[in-house]
Order: sequence, then C-alpha cells, then structure tokens
Amino acid sequence: MIIVMKASATEEQMQKIIDRSESLGLKAHVSKGEERTIIGLIGAEDKVRMQPLERMDGVEKVMPILPPYKLVSRELRKQNTVIKIKDVEIGAKKIVIMAGPCSVENKESLLQIANDVKKNGATVLRGGAFKPRTSPYSFQGLGEEGLKYLKEAADETGLLIVTELMDPRDLDLFYKYDVDIIQIGARNMQNFNLLKEIGKIKKPVLLKRGMMSTIKELLMSAEYILSEGNFNVMLCERGIRTFESHTRFTFDVNAIPVIKKLSHLPVIADPSHATGQWGLVSPISRAAVAAGADGLIIEVHPKPEEALSDGVQSLLPKNFQELIVDLRNVCKAVGREM
Ligand code: PEP
Ligand code: MN
Repeated sequence: MIIVMKASATEEQMQKIIDRSESLGLKAHVSKGEERTIIGLIGAEDKVRMQPLERMDGVEKVMPILPPYKLVSRELRKQNTVIKIKDVEIGAKKIVIMAGPCSVENKESLLQIANDVKKNGATVLRGGAFKPRTSPYSFQGLGEEGLKYLKEAADETGLLIVTELMDPRDLDLFYKYDVDIIQIGARNMQNFNLLKEIGKIKKPVLLKRGMMSTIKELLMSAEYILSEGNFNVMLCERGIRTFESHTRFTFDVNAIPVIKKLSHLPVIADPSHATGQWGLVSPISRAAVAAGADGLIIEVHPKPEEALSDGVQSLLPKNFQELIVDLRNVCKAVGREM
C-alpha cells in the first residue's frame, strides 16, 4: 500500500500514520521527494484496507497495490482450474456447451430439447425452475416440478444439469434432484448471504456477472464462495448495461481475456442474454470462443414464439446445430476442441 501525503503535511501527521501502520503490524518506508512525501507500507494490506487511512490528516491518497481478491487470483494458482463433473471437464481444452430453454416449461418439451442439444454436442442442459423475473406477473418458473423434469431429462440423456438457485432454502431440493451446477443469476451476484451459503457446499457454481457489475466486483463475489471453501466456481459473462440500446445488453468480450488473466477460474459466455436477439447468438458465440471462453450457455427452444420467457433470444434446434458447426472452425483456429 502506498500513501501519498499532501504537500502541506506536517512531520507530526506523518508520524501518526507511521505509528498507526506499525500498530497494525506493517512496516513503513518513508520516501521524501522535493514536493511530496510517500509512505510505502509493507505487510498484510488487508489490515490497512479496513482502516480509513484516507481520513487521517495530511493524507492525500491511499493506493492499494494488491488486488482485494486472493483465492480467485492467478497469483494463487498459475494453472487453470478444471472443474470435473462426472465425465465433463470445465476449463480444459474442450469447450463446454450448456444449452436448453430459458425456463423449464413442461416435461415433453424439455425432453425434446435435451435430446436435440445432446445430439449436437451439448454436455450440460440448462433450464430455470426458479426464475428471477423483473415483473411479479411474469412466469415465475415451475419450482420443484421443474427440477423434477430436469432430473428426468438428465437421467434419460446423461446430460449434466445447470439451474438457478435464488433462495438457499431451496438447496435441499437441488440435492434431492441431483442438480450438477448451481447457477447464481446476474441479479443475485451480490447477494452475499446466498454466496456464503453455496460457499459452504461443494457443488459447482456458475456465477453470472451482474448486469451493472465490474469485473472486479464479479471476482470479489467469487471470492465470497471460495473463501467459504468451495473452489468449484465458473464465471459467466452475460452482458452488461451500457448506453447502447440496440441489443438487450452489451456483450463485454474484453471481460473474457481480462478474467482469464486475473483468475484461474473457468469462464463461460452467455451470448443469449448478452444480445437478447437469436440472430446475434452465433457471431457472439464465435467471438467468445476466439477470445478464450471455456464454454457457452445458450438458450434453445423448439417454438421460440411460444416460450414463456426469453423466446426472442432462443435458438431453434436447427440454428443451434448450425452454430455448433460454425464453432468447430473457430475452435480449431484457437487451439481448442469441441
Ligand atoms: C438465465 O440464465 O435465464 C438468466 C435469468 O440469466 P441472467 O441471470 O444472466 O439474467
Ligand atoms: Mn433467460
């Protein structure tokens, strides 16, 4: 941590900073320049982070050196984290495809989609049973019944299941129906109590970036989960709010290489929510894989015009099939496999 003192700072003010830092167990190194004095603090930065040193007299600016996230950072683990679930590896050379409807609507259509996406290379079935809807009057999901259909589809196809958890009180149901990956949606990325709860278990987590959250905030949210002991976390870029209104959100392709550089955790891209338009799902999927994403989560529906949520952005099974074909070439170009 570096503390820049004001030009007008007195010796006494400086000494107070040094005393405070030393009382916290840090070593203070003072460098006196012609115009400014800088104090470098060596030791556990976290202790100082909790102290509002910027409020002390004579201080102009406090600049942390280390990022506040630790367990998620590349510093902790140089090699990529690979999450193994049954025979699927997430974060390895092979791109993982998660696909399915936005919401689980009924058993027949879910089974049809599951078989379709499996045939075309998906290894994980997505589908919301508990839906975070902006309006309380919109379809809220089938709840437990939805989880039951997901399990039936998994048993029939061998696909893994990813589905959203909004309330930790539903965790028992997620165990009862063998959910493989717990999705934490964009709207709950900073629901810290929920993050702490899923940190206490070992089930893999797909943590989606909040639509108004920075990459650093996403990493800090992941840190909540890892700090409780659950290291099976993948991060999902699903688009952020910008001034651009042509698309539902703006896909932040930058986030993929940035997160891969800062963290060892796998990165999944969600081109469906990021664009809100089915016609953009394929190009953005290709961009995501080219940028280094470890997987994609894509909405597919046999009758998008009748979908109970997110029909506009859902691919028809045949569009999904075409997307997978297009992706193969991109994978080859960037040294990945499908
Ligand atoms: C979803 O995956 O259906 C969903 C609601 O996503 P997000 O939380 O990213 O909006
Ligand atoms: Mn959706």
